[in-house]
Amino acid sequence: MIGALARTAGGPAFRAITAPPLARAGARFATRAARLWGRALGGQERRVGQLHVITGLPQWAFGRGGTTVGATFLTRASDSPAVLEHEDVHRQQWERYGLWFIPMYYAAGIDAKRNRFEIEAGLEQGGYLPKRGPDAQRDA
Ligand SMILES: [Zn+2]
Repeated sequence: MIGALARTAGGPAFRAITAPPLARAGARFATRAARLWGRALGGQERRVGQLHVITGLPQWAFGRGGTTVGATFLTRASDSPAVLEHEDVHRQQWERYGLWFIPMYYAAGIDAKRNRFEIEAGLEQGGYLPKRGPDAQRDA
């Protein structure tokens, strides 16, 4: 099913299920659900650009250093500007694909360094590669 979805990406059926109004509705639903989840767990919410950033969450409440669901970023304390820039690209991916982003993301591979959505968001900003340059810092 996921393989079939990947093969038809760009075809008419794929365009229909990712039509902008449907994708945006899915992204809005995901955003609301994740904000409820983050607030229910006692996280502190703030707005950074179009991203709802919820910090102070327990480690089990999200994946890796943090997870973007719709326009909501859930994390314990991984909220440096570089990370938020990376997560904002994931927010845009959610806008583009809606709830289909979930199977598409996993179909692209668990290894972040090969996952096209992580590559698009930036592996360095996401903390998947060491930062380059004189003022390189660690985020996570
Ligand atoms: Zn990422």
